[in-house]
Amino acid sequence: MAEYPGLGEVSGKRVLVRSDLNVPLDGEVGAKVITDDGRIRASVPTISALAAAGARVVVTAHLGRPKGAPDPAYSLAPVAARLGELLGSPVAFATDTVGASAQQVVSALADGEVALLENVRFNAGETSKDEAERGAFADELAALADAFVSDGFGVVHRKQASVYDVAQRLPHAMGGLVAAEIDVLRRLTVTPERPYVVVLGGSKVSDKLGVIDNLLEKADKLLIGGGMVFTFLAAQGHGVGQSLLEEDQIGTCRDYLERAAASGVQILLPTDIVVADSFGDEASARVVPADAIPETTLGLDIGPESGAAFAAALGDAATVFWNGPMGVFEVAAFAEGTRAVADALTRVRGLSVVGGGDSAAAVRSLGFDEAAFGHISTGGGASLEYLEGKELPGITVLEGN
Ligand code: ADP
Ligand code: MG
Repeated sequence: MAEYPGLGEVSGKRVLVRSDLNVPLDGEVGAKVITDDGRIRASVPTISALAAAGARVVVTAHLGRPKGAPDPAYSLAPVAARLGELLGSPVAFATDTVGASAQQVVSALADGEVALLENVRFNAGETSKDEAERGAFADELAALADAFVSDGFGVVHRKQASVYDVAQRLPHAMGGLVAAEIDVLRRLTVTPERPYVVVLGGSKVSDKLGVIDNLLEKADKLLIGGGMVFTFLAAQGHGVGQSLLEEDQIGTCRDYLERAAASGVQILLPTDIVVADSFGDEASARVVPADAIPETTLGLDIGPESGAAFAAALGDAATVFWNGPMGVFEVAAFAEGTRAVADALTRVRGLSVVGGGDSAAAVRSLGFDEAAFGHISTGGGASLEYLEGKELPGITVLEGN
């Protein structure tokens, strides 16, 4: 097969692929080590499918947040080497993104070969808010290729040259990774199978307002844990001691509780809380009722009774979306609530989706097998924006021609 879905014949063509290769690195410049190659692995299927179809594959990606100019600390060179290992054939590396090196590397590609361009964010045009500056850079990127494949799910919520503008300049298609993510997110928002349970936690209610707002009436049950619990408890009139509290959101939380009651959506709040005398203080950890948090303590996890109740509420779910740890899972004494929810998710028979960077990290650090979950989203920000009902520019642009 020499075709790529949505692009048709690609054999002999130069195909620019926007991937998400933004991996964590450790060590000195020149001897950097990739500490988690998950995003590179996730990018391989699209790249190898294009190469197998005979395309000359030109991969573009960013790493970290350089300031629009070359910075060796953010070079993609170590990523090119690892990508080559995973593909099983060497990846040519261009030491610039659209300059002499890129042009030379791309023109030297044979059918089925792969090149990686240096960090796209070494160019001020990539992230510029000025349409003309971004467009001029997109012109240079587009000149390197005959077609474009958008496969960096972690960046599709960004209106950036290599994500958005370049798609307006070349025949384009959605890569397999982005297509799979969008398919899952549609199943969470368009016609979710019921019962549909949404579990929300994490630190702040204000980070998740858009998601709560958009999913409140779609879900059958909403389970709330993490730091945002205390603003809900305060909205019910309870004292929360020294716990994380967003006073300015108490009214919003009261409104959510009322809307849920009116529309028949069940909101489950924890009935017991693990508190401590100071942040992360394991020695003083103890369980108290959620409506009797001592004034001098702060809540750092949902209690065991709540963990069991949340697991039971997930028992018959056909669709689950979980974002945000139930407690300060980084500290063992406050990780059990998150563990109880993660464990219940592995037993869900329908679609179980984990979204959010810290939630995905929690699942891994607590030792769960990622394969036990239906889907772990690779793009925290992009999936949350989609679930807020926002338009993702990098997706919308692919729908036009
Ligand atoms: P995600 O990245 O999955 O969207 P968030 O960034 O919203 O999740 O939240 C993750 C953070 O929330 C974790 O670092 C965790 O320690 C913190 N957290 C959870 N529960 C509490 C709590 N009760 N008090 C303070 N911080 C909390
Ligand atoms: Mg986070």
